Amino acid sequence: MSETRLRFPPSPTGYLHIGGARTALYNWLYARQNNGRLILRIEDTDTDRSSAGSIDGILEGLAWLGIDFDEGPYFQTDFISYHIQAAERLLAAGKAYKCFCSKEELEAKREAALAAKGQLGYDRNCRNLSSDQVAAQEAAGAPWVVRFKVPDRNGQLAYEDRILGRIAADYREVEDFVILRSNGTPLYLLSNVVDDIRDRISHIIRGQDHMTNTLKQVLLYEALEAPLPVFAHMPLTLDSKKAKISKRSHGEIVAVQFYRDHGFIPWAFNNFLALLGWSAGNDQEIFSREELIREFSLERINKANAIFNYRKDDPKFFTDPKAIHINAYYLRHLPIAELGELVREELTQAGLWQEEYAGSQQDWYHSTLELIRDRFHTLKDFTSLGRAYFADDFAVDPKAEAKHLAKNPELGEWLPALADRYQALDRFDLTTSEAAAREMAEQLGVKPGVLINAVRTVVTGQLAGPSMFEALLAIGRERVIQRLRAASRFFSQN
Ligand code: GLU
Repeated sequence: MSETRLRFPPSPTGYLHIGGARTALYNWLYARQNNGRLILRIEDTDTDRSSAGSIDGILEGLAWLGIDFDEGPYFQTDFISYHIQAAERLLAAGKAYKCFCSKEELEAKREAALAAKGQLGYDRNCRNLSSDQVAAQEAAGAPWVVRFKVPDRNGQLAYEDRILGRIAADYREVEDFVILRSNGTPLYLLSNVVDDIRDRISHIIRGQDHMTNTLKQVLLYEALEAPLPVFAHMPLTLDSKKAKISKRSHGEIVAVQFYRDHGFIPWAFNNFLALLGWSAGNDQEIFSREELIREFSLERINKANAIFNYRKDDPKFFTDPKAIHINAYYLRHLPIAELGELVREELTQAGLWQEEYAGSQQDWYHSTLELIRDRFHTLKDFTSLGRAYFADDFAVDPKAEAKHLAKNPELGEWLPALADRYQALDRFDLTTSEAAAREMAEQLGVKPGVLINAVRTVVTGQLAGPSMFEALLAIGRERVIQRLRAASRFFSQN
């Protein structure tokens, strides 16, 4: 059995597009499932767009996702001489020929064909030039390109796509395509195949947008006497209006780095990407790394395009709701020590990490995460919605202030008074903190909720959250007392 070898060959664009990330993931899954090797190749021959920085963004995105490679990165530009040699071999074997037609001639023929509604492809004008004719043209200094000689066969040129089934076209429909430009540089179509042959790639999993090349590439494999790899062309990723998602029209949300910077958990995002065009054949949504490697299959990649449900109009879901939903699932279910590591990075970035959280206060740290994680969707929530657990300078949600403070100016005195009661308690625990609040509400003749919601607002800054008295314990008696005492500031305008 020959080796299973896959590749991810991004063009350097400065960032890893989620469509590209999905391609990388599917290749990675297939390689890991089949004890194969995954090769990273940077297709940097389009020199205008290539720069060291534009590769870093891609490597960074892949590293964040945890998609690792067994070989590479190789750089396509390092192998241009091989691509040229391949074209020369084809030329020498009579499988390609020099074409001297000028741009102007080709354009004029194209226009005539358009007008007559005739065939648009190259008319094979130079395909059968004699060696004397070729020599004469060369002697006259006429520029030439190299065209591939599509075999003169009846019937169909075809390959079996693992996702789409048989893909075919009549040989006659395929034009003699250019493989080497007049300046001697190879066409991408050729470079791509020569690299895949050199890297002994056995499976090519890529987007359907590359299918325009594939039949021609099948011909190149045959002509270069290389075994044909398995092709699997994946559906595209479109937005909810069926438009291609691009940075220009959709902004930063198309880049994997956006998810890193917005508090996504790397594996959760892989899990989301996996479902963008593939399913296990049931409605299972959450897959561990091992499960996904085991379950993944090319045959269950959808034929229809995947929809990335981005709704610009809904600020709560700043990206596909499913991505957020899956991320929230992982936030709630990760082993707490693992979550602790991820939140540690988030707290560190926000300047809120304290070394004790990994030492003497580790129990507190873990139980606090356990307490607050249920309502969170991203790691960012720990330092925004959950900031009051780690810092004193947190913002109070204006909605909570309007609902639970503004209506009762007396709270400006009641809350500091509750602070006094908390100060006087022998023990500050779930039972005593709750009893003290209820007792005070009863004495004041107000519903306990009035006091409790106001406490929540000034102590956590949030409208909702975990069980109030558990929150107080997590935040700690001293801080609770301070925050209740400072509550008068909400009413000081008059
Ligand atoms: N370099 C191409 C891209 O970034 C990939 C081509 C391929 O997979 O064959 O889209």
